[in-house]
Amino acid sequence: MKNIAFIGLGNMGGPMAANLVKKGFAVTAFDLSAPMLESAVASGCHKAESAHAAIDGADAVVSMLPSGEAVRSLYLGVHGLLQAMTPGTLLIDCSTIAANDARQVIAAASERDIEALDAPVSGGTAAAAAGTLSFMCGGSDGAVERARPVLEAMGANIFHAGPAGSGQVAKICNNMLLAIHMIGTAEALQLGVDNGLDPSVLSEIMRASSGGNWSLEKYNPYPGVMENVPASREYQGGFSVALMLKDLGLAMDTAAGSASSTPLGALAKNLYQLHGGDPINKVLDFSSIQNLFRRPVGD
Ligand code: NAD
Repeated sequence: MKNIAFIGLGNMGGPMAANLVKKGFAVTAFDLSAPMLESAVASGCHKAESAHAAIDGADAVVSMLPSGEAVRSLYLGVHGLLQAMTPGTLLIDCSTIAANDARQVIAAASERDIEALDAPVSGGTAAAAAGTLSFMCGGSDGAVERARPVLEAMGANIFHAGPAGSGQVAKICNNMLLAIHMIGTAEALQLGVDNGLDPSVLSEIMRASSGGNWSLEKYNPYPGVMENVPASREYQGGFSVALMLKDLGLAMDTAAGSASSTPLGALAKNLYQLHGGDPINKVLDFSSIQNLFRRPVGD
């Protein structure tokens, strides 16, 4: 497994492809955006003029695209990449998309004797750059094992969640829970502040008590409590409200498909929708949900 075609060199795909190059893979890259493609070339990727050109001679194709529609239109149909890929090539889609879209692509790949897996990631752009992403894989044991050396070049944790589509299900379960405990943390911190507590002191108390959780301990949403988190830089960078809304939408669609009850997930989506209704908030980190609870100065 030496030659990799990489499609989608955005905020995540760019640094992921760069890490493959650093680990000795020959990466041929394609992106619809010329600036994104040029920056991948600057990090050592070979430039392809089209997705079809990128897969020429590839042992594996890795894609990191914004939506299920983008993934389906890349791979499926008479002009899709699957028709042009050599049987035996491995397909690794790392995009966050609906589990059903992932299953459709993987089933179509299998008809062409192409092993495929969904491998969405957790960790964001910092982990993509550091090569410490977590991959949540869905697919056969054989596909995941074949993909492992490629994934290990970009990540620190490789999980096999189950058959095709399971990586996507694991990802949206995780992000739904993340949204819920981020909102709960912001709400509790604000209640304390409104009643005269210092948010740092309250955070320290809750960290050592039963309210402790990842949002509080590693990604505190209240400005001034932690350094090096988006709350300490006016919520710039990090994981945007828009992307959280995308994942909560996928979670709600999945819940509807399985008739699962997800009342807190639905409320979290509603609160993020309210917050993200202002376009200024939509591009901020998702911990900016704190601002939904904060009172105007002087109130
Ligand atoms: P992005 O918008 O920065 O990058 C996507 C890239 O895909 C763009 O450069 C775009 O030009 C390219 N593209 C779109 N359609 C294409 C096509 N048909 N052929 C070639 N290139 C195409 O998005 P991102 O932040 O890199 O996110 C990518 C995926 O990773 C999404 O599914 C997102 O939900 C997921 N994700 C993002 C983060 C994050 O923090 N940004 C974290 C975890 C998962």
